[in-house]
Amino acid sequence: MSTKDFNVLTIRQEAAKLGFDEIRFTHLDPAPGVDNYNRFIDEGRHGEMGWMERGQPPRANPFSLLPGAKSVIVLGMNYSHPRPPDPGGLTGKVASYAWGRDYHNRIGKRLKKLDRNLREQIPGFLSYGGVDSRPLIERAWAQRAGLGFLGKNCLAILPGRSSYFFIAVMLVNIDLPPDTPLGDHCGSCQRCLDVCPTGAFTAPGELDARRCISYLTIEHKGEIPNDLRQQMGRWVFGCDDCQEVCPHNPKNPIFADPEFAPRAGHAWLDLEWVLLADDDTLKSHFQGSPIRRPGPQGLKRNAAIVLGNMGDPSARTSLLRAMDHSDAIVKSHAKWALDRL
Ligand code: SF4
Repeated sequence: MSTKDFNVLTIRQEAAKLGFDEIRFTHLDPAPGVDNYNRFIDEGRHGEMGWMERGQPPRANPFSLLPGAKSVIVLGMNYSHPRPPDPGGLTGKVASYAWGRDYHNRIGKRLKKLDRNLREQIPGFLSYGGVDSRPLIERAWAQRAGLGFLGKNCLAILPGRSSYFFIAVMLVNIDLPPDTPLGDHCGSCQRCLDVCPTGAFTAPGELDARRCISYLTIEHKGEIPNDLRQQMGRWVFGCDDCQEVCPHNPKNPIFADPEFAPRAGHAWLDLEWVLLADDDTLKSHFQGSPIRRPGPQGLKRNAAIVLGNMGDPSARTSLLRAMDHSDAIVKSHAKWALDRL
């Protein structure tokens, strides 16, 4: 067996042992997706995500992240689980990637282990990797490596299978045989563009994050623009609308890694509880979950909006109590919701 074949086999075996469902390779140079990425930033469509601007130089020049890098391993880990039934009452929906454990942490640990195992078996092996936490344009690497095509909803999609997978990227200092990119598999479909409640897609494959419910409920820090609140419907954290309508996603998702299975009280949130719980209670309930990201103030803001959208007068007492909250954003969103009851 040649050294290259041995390396490919070893990487595939070790990655599969650690639970990665998809393993692809691509060449390193030039870094893909940079022009689109820079245009996205230049047009201000990234909103308040300053980390995207800060990461522009290394995204364009991955050699600065791993001198001597030659190839890229792109790994997919499925997170799809069936959505738990609607519990009814005053509850809000959470995007499915956040039902289980925080993928940054869980997949990050597996990447470290993969790196360790490969160093032991491949002489001189070095890597630089991450999952949504490093200056790497994950979707662009995935597309070039054939780990999905980029749909009109801007997500990497494995045709006829799923877009519900996390993408991890590892730059490595060895030569690996590149996989082939997939062609377009959207065709004339445009369900995701039509379903987006806020019109966040400015064109097929072009997103304005400032209108995206995922961005607004997770990354955006301040007031949510008035004209977008009603369109959030019941989404209290993230949004899956553009994935749920995609014909490539299964109606009955398979059960993926148990770490990403829905934890109690994480797929549907009790909105009045979120609104009234103290910060420590919220932090402790969402420990180890992506739902911690917006912080207690952001979650309460989102909960107030969904309560306003549900329009159930029984939420009045909770919203009135939220008006006494020390945070101006929570108060103003509670007031907006009260005006809608
Ligand atoms: Fe493509 Fe249709 Fe899926 Fe959108 S919903 S990503 S247009 S296949």
